[in-house]
Amino acid sequence: MEKILIVDDSLVQASQLKSILEDEYEVSIAQTAEDGLSRVGSENFSLILLDVVMPGMDGFTLLKKLQEEIITQSIPVILITSLSDAASEQRGLVLGAVDYITKPFKSLIVKARVNTHIKLYNYRRLAERQSMTDQLTGIANRRRYERYSAVKWHEATRLQIPFSICMFDIDHFKVYNDKFGHPAGDKVIAAVAKTVSSHLNRNTDFFARYGGEEFVSIILGSESEKVFAHLKRIRQAVEDLHIAHDPSISEWVTVSVGGITVIPPVDGSYAYYLKVADTMLYDAKKHGRNKVVWADEQMRQLWEK
Ligand code: GH3
Ligand code: MG
Ligand code: MG
Repeated sequence: MEKILIVDDSLVQASQLKSILEDEYEVSIAQTAEDGLSRVGSENFSLILLDVVMPGMDGFTLLKKLQEEIITQSIPVILITSLSDAASEQRGLVLGAVDYITKPFKSLIVKARVNTHIKLYNYRRLAERQSMTDQLTGIANRRRYERYSAVKWHEATRLQIPFSICMFDIDHFKVYNDKFGHPAGDKVIAAVAKTVSSHLNRNTDFFARYGGEEFVSIILGSESEKVFAHLKRIRQAVEDLHIAHDPSISEWVTVSVGGITVIPPVDGSYAYYLKVADTMLYDAKKHGRNKVVWADEQMRQLWEK
């Protein structure tokens, strides 16, 4: 069941709203804006019904706070109030409320409006998810990677934690396509993505399709030696899929891997380190493919084989 939060200092009022909605939704009540704010931070609500006039923090102030936070700004908020004047309504809508219901309210109207806004919210979430997902592989796409890397680079710089950027590229993939056809090539891309992502499943790991037969990963909080060792296992896992390649080129489909682990310098640029990761990948290709080449925190190269 989807969750709705009612923020209202009047328990009578809140209970009445709850009874209208509780056959279709899981409804919680917060009797102060402060309590509402803390619950929104820890639970996933699909909609908030917010009373405007409350002692302490009022509804407008809470709405403003919700709009300022990335995680809460997309949750639809419907204001419920006895303030029926146009100025209050305008203020609420300008602050970002999706709708405005004045007291006394009619049950069916409240229900219909809630249903509509939850439906719209779900469409939007679905569209957002789809726009961030690569269709062929189901993993994150380039757009999501761009956002994630920017946010995490900033965070790792502030916290001074090791940040690894890793590029993967399927070896001799043009030959594979030429010999087995594009649809077969697509299956290989999906299989490689599945195998690699199954090895990058901590919540500090991120893996995306960079484009074509290239992938990118960001791994947070681990030192270069550990990341290097893990990527060697991943590279091996792809080889162990035993996807037959053109025998004149290679027995199995393999990937080359290049990357870097760095504690982001305060004035460091992400683009620079991405370029280093790419250079490592280039070195892996140049020296026979199917290997991992890494740059550690001191910019020393670590070579597989
Ligand atoms: P290298 O080992 O140096 O990486 O050689 P390569 O042939 O893999 O590299 P190159 O960049 O020359 O070719 C990449 C090929 O990947 C060319 C393109 O046909 C194929 N490719 C890119 N995207 C897709 C895709 O979505 N599906 C399929 N089937 N093939 C793709
Ligand atoms: Mg390539
Ligand atoms: Mg390639």
